Amino acid sequence: MATQPTNNRRAFIVKTVKGSLAVSIGMSAAAPLLQSCASAKSITAASSIKTGFDQLPLPYKYNELENVIDAMTMEIHYSKHAAAYAKNVKEAATAEAVDMNKPLEDVLANISKYSAKMRNNGGGHYNHEMFWHCMRPKQNENAPTGKLMEAIIKQFGSFDQFKKQFGDAGKNRFGSGWAWLYIDKDNNLKTGSTPNQDNPLMNISEVKGFPLLALDVWEHAYYLKYQNKRAEYVDNWWNVVNWNYVQERMDSYKI
Ligand code: MN
Repeated sequence: MATQPTNNRRAFIVKTVKGSLAVSIGMSAAAPLLQSCASAKSITAASSIKTGFDQLPLPYKYNELENVIDAMTMEIHYSKHAAAYAKNVKEAATAEAVDMNKPLEDVLANISKYSAKMRNNGGGHYNHEMFWHCMRPKQNENAPTGKLMEAIIKQFGSFDQFKKQFGDAGKNRFGSGWAWLYIDKDNNLKTGSTPNQDNPLMNISEVKGFPLLALDVWEHAYYLKYQNKRAEYVDNWWNVVNWNYVQERMDSYKI
């Protein structure tokens, strides 16, 4: 059975990050997103959504994104590529004396102090854990609603213009990397791209902020079905975006 991503996240947070971080994700409807704030010192610390070092269960079956991402791609991607990042980040954390009871975000925010193995696999693990939850089985009318849609229209002019910007970030990434929608330090929504397994939480990243939506544009994410046609993969991907999860991340963002 498919498991709701929110339940996975809540279960993880209650289990491994006790205390103040176990506040109710998704319940903080009054989170002051996009209000001006000059004192946002740590974007990483500003969200109650945290990621651990273990690979969580995929929140749907391998074949449930069919027509957009084929089951074999999902299986290899999750059980081989992403599983390896999870295994290797734990190896790096052990070697570098990282407390794995603390969130991975703490490491990412200071990634310049760690090894290349930590950067590549810590980023790889975080990005994929997020990516799986950014998707859900295809729905007919798939668009954000409420505050999230309002914020997107305010920032980008329209939902279509946002999709164009975000899509271009993925299509134009040279080589392997990611496209992002994120909140920057001034609480603006931004789109951007990072190379390899870097992400906006990393202190070495050119694109910095709290990520709301992640798209994997490594060839392993699409090549079996789309071969060289990355743009087609990016355009189809909108059909399986889990906007509830994006909204949940936005609601979790605190200043
Ligand atoms: Mn990947």
